[in-house]
Amino acid sequence: MSGQPGRGAGGRGGSGGNGRGGSGGNGRGAGGAAGRGAGSAAGRGGSAAGRGGTAAGRGGAPDRSSGGEKSGRPRRSDGPSSGATSGSAKTTGGRRDPKQARFAGSTKASQPTRLPQRKETPQVEVHDPDGVRLQKLMAAAGVGSRRTCENLISAGRVEVDGQVVTELGVRIDADRQTVHVDGVRVQLDASRVYLAFNKPLKVVSTMSDDLGRVSLADYVGDRPERLFHVGRLDADTEGLLLLTNDGDLAHRLQHPAYGVLKTYLAQIPAPVPRDIGRRLREGIELDDGPVQVDSFRLIDSQPGRALVEVVLHEGRKHVVRRMFDAVGHPVITLVRTQVGPIRLGDLKSGRTRRLNPDEVGQLYTAAGL
Ligand code: URA
Repeated sequence: MSGQPGRGAGGRGGSGGNGRGGSGGNGRGAGGAAGRGAGSAAGRGGSAAGRGGTAAGRGGAPDRSSGGEKSGRPRRSDGPSSGATSGSAKTTGGRRDPKQARFAGSTKASQPTRLPQRKETPQVEVHDPDGVRLQKLMAAAGVGSRRTCENLISAGRVEVDGQVVTELGVRIDADRQTVHVDGVRVQLDASRVYLAFNKPLKVVSTMSDDLGRVSLADYVGDRPERLFHVGRLDADTEGLLLLTNDGDLAHRLQHPAYGVLKTYLAQIPAPVPRDIGRRLREGIELDDGPVQVDSFRLIDSQPGRALVEVVLHEGRKHVVRRMFDAVGHPVITLVRTQVGPIRLGDLKSGRTRRLNPDEVGQLYTAAGL
C-alpha cells in the first residue's frame, strides 16, 4: 500500500491544476472508485475517489510538496508608483454577492469579464501608503501574474475590504485587509497552509496518539506549522481529511451552522432495497437524534455488495455507519471523497497535496468568509 508514514519522498505534490474542476456541488465527486467498487474494497490500494479531481499530489512526498507554492511574504515595493499614492485611492463602492460570484480562477486577461454587481455602500479608505501594491500581493498569493492581476483590478473584479478597487496604485496591508476576486477570498498570508490528505485505513485522526497507533503526526508531524485537522475520520474510514494551520477556517468548516457537505462512498450488502434512498433522505432516527442525507445514489450493485454514494452536511461520530446500520445495511468499507468544494481526486493514500489558491478561496466561501 502506498504512502506509508515517513516514506514517499521525492516527486511532485504541489498545487494541482487550477482546481476548477473542484467547485461546488457535492455529490459529483464519487464514481471514480465505483469501478473498483462492489465486490472489492472501495478505494483500497491508493486513489479512492472522485472523478474529475485534479492530478495534484501524484507521486508526491506526503507534505513537502512545493509545486506551485509561492514562498515568502510580499515585501514593499520600492519602485515608482504608477497610480494613486496620495492616500486617497478611488474605490467604487459595492461588493458583489458572493453567491453570484463566478470562480475566481479565471485570471487570464483574455477571459470574459463579468462586472461585479455594485451596491451603494459608503466608500471606505482602502489605500494604505505603507502597504504593498495590491497586484503584487495578489500575484504572490498565486492569483496570476502581476499583469493578470492588474487586468483583474482594472476590470473591476477585485475588492479590498468589500470595496471594488479599479486603480492600479493602491497599496494595502495584507495583515489587516481582505481581498476578494470575483467575490472569492484570496488568502494573502503566505504562512497559511491548506492541505488535502488521503487518510489511509487504520490511521487515527489525531495529531498524536498515547496508545502508539499510527496518527496524522506520522504523516505531517515534521511540518513546521501547527496543523489542525478539519473534523475526523474513523480509523476504519479512509479518504479526504483537510489539514490547515488556519484555526478560524478549520473551526468554521466543522461548525454545523455552515453545513459543509461531505461525500462518502460506502460499500454495503446488496441487494439494496429501492426505497433506501427515500428513507435516508427523509431522515433516520439515531440514538442522538435524526440524520438525513442530502443525497443518495446507488453507483453499482453486484451479488452480495453494492457501492453507494451519500452526501451529508453533518459530522457526528460514526454517523454514516450508524445510519446504514439503522437501515439494515452495515457499512463494509467507507471512503470520504469530498469535503465542501474539495475533492479527493486521485490523491494517493497516505499523501498530501497543497490546495491551490482557488480551492482555498472556495473553502472560505463555504465557511461564509
Ligand atoms: N461517518 C462515519 O461513520 N465514519 C466516518 O469516518 C465519517 C463519517
